[in-house]
Amino acid sequence: MRQFAVVGSGPAGFYTAEALAKAFGDKARVDIIDRYPVPYGLIRFGVAPDHQSLKAVSKRYDQVAESEGVSFVGNVTVGRDVSAKELLDLYDAVVLAIGAPHDRKLGIPGEDLPGVVGSAEFVGWYNGHPDFADLAPPLGGTHAVVVGNGNVALDCVRVLSKNRHEFEGSDIVGHALEALDGSDVRTVTILGRRGPHQISMTPKELGELGHLEAATPVVDAADFPPIEEDSALEPGHRKSITILREFASAGPDSSKPKRILFDFFAKPLRIEGDGKAERLLVERTMLDERGAAIGTGETYDVPASLVVTSIGYQTPRIDGVPYDDRGGKFANDHGLIADRLYAVGWARRGPTGTIGTNRPDGYEVAERIASAMPPGTDGGRGGGEGLTALLAKRGVRPTNFDDWHRIEAAEVAAARPGSPREKFVRQEDWLKVLGR
Ligand SMILES: Cc1cc2nc3c(=O)[nH]c(=O)nc-3n(C[C@H](O)[C@H](O)[C@H](O)COP(=O)(O)OP(=O)(O)OC[C@H]3O[C@@H](n4cnc5c(N)ncnc54)[C@H](O)[C@@H]3O)c2cc1C
Repeated sequence: MRQFAVVGSGPAGFYTAEALAKAFGDKARVDIIDRYPVPYGLIRFGVAPDHQSLKAVSKRYDQVAESEGVSFVGNVTVGRDVSAKELLDLYDAVVLAIGAPHDRKLGIPGEDLPGVVGSAEFVGWYNGHPDFADLAPPLGGTHAVVVGNGNVALDCVRVLSKNRHEFEGSDIVGHALEALDGSDVRTVTILGRRGPHQISMTPKELGELGHLEAATPVVDAADFPPIEEDSALEPGHRKSITILREFASAGPDSSKPKRILFDFFAKPLRIEGDGKAERLLVERTMLDERGAAIGTGETYDVPASLVVTSIGYQTPRIDGVPYDDRGGKFANDHGLIADRLYAVGWARRGPTGTIGTNRPDGYEVAERIASAMPPGTDGGRGGGEGLTALLAKRGVRPTNFDDWHRIEAAEVAAARPGSPREKFVRQEDWLKVLGR
């Protein structure tokens, strides 16, 4: 019997567990360890609450968690409750699937002013992440800025722009819904250092901005290269650019009170204000021959009492695990970090790709493990039983998948009309459902 630990219960962790269970059948036990009693990683805490259909993938993960030989071990933080070295002593292979939950910084003056938040914080706040329940982003001003030109930036812009009833059917948490309902924000500027051809936005997410009830996109036609250059783009990307061009040629819908301003070729230099964010000093850029943004020296102010930075994420370090500083992820060679220690998902590749991109990662690493220790061999390690004993000595009480189902049932029971659930936000609320 082989014993495997997968650390992290997001997409990458679940696909790895699924692949290991398929490769080893009843010749292995797989423990999926997560710091929280609630599974699914960014499916719960990242994917936008008004994109419910995407979250249905968790049903597939449920089948993995409930399959023979697989266990969910929640409420256990690796690096705090148990070290990576201890896991390697207990398990034949350890796969780190802890994602990349930390915001990258802009690295400009004023970034620490109140009113400046990272997208992980902002997204976590409206999605019920326990670390950001108390974020209270300032929504009392009329202008907000979102820095970044990817899909996460679009999520933030859309959430800031929707009316209350446009969240019907979503699982946005109650505290965020109330705060957004009282928001005074009327203009959201979305800032990108480069131009329309350099965006990382997909057509579906961009297209949604054209169907908002109270907000209208504003795009300057002068920002585009000649239309002939679109033909060189990959088809999906070309579709996104076509949508942006349509926004530009249609012009803003004057019947809608809110504006989403696309400000391309704009590099933030400084965030300024009297004890809190009030405006961004921005430098106009242009592209050099390699496609990099270079400053033109022309500067201007963009008003903003809320600044959301959405320029990428980093994996946190775990003691004793080699780290790639530049990439902001674990140092690895095709998923291999060190003997019997692997990384998958965002902890392996950095924060790129969709939910499905994590699947091949998990399968590839499971294959590597199966060839290093073929099914039917035995490593003689303590596995889950050893972990349980170690955690008990430290006073850590793990949760299992039945516990998650109890929390989930309580969330569904607490749902407001039209919402699939009211997420419980704090660790103590989850544990209260479990009678702890
Ligand atoms: C805001 C946002 C919106 C997105 N929207 C979409 C979308 O609409 N469609 C799409 O296809 N993709 C979307 N993505 C991308 C998708 O969410 C990722 O590709 C995917 O979640 C990455 O999976 P992962 O398993 O590597 O990391 P995660 O999903 O982050 O999972 C990591 C898990 O590890 C756990 N963990 C972390 N540290 C520890 C520790 N020390 N000990 C134990 N457990 C730990 C965490 O609790 C978490 O459960 C979005 C991403 C973001 C940030």
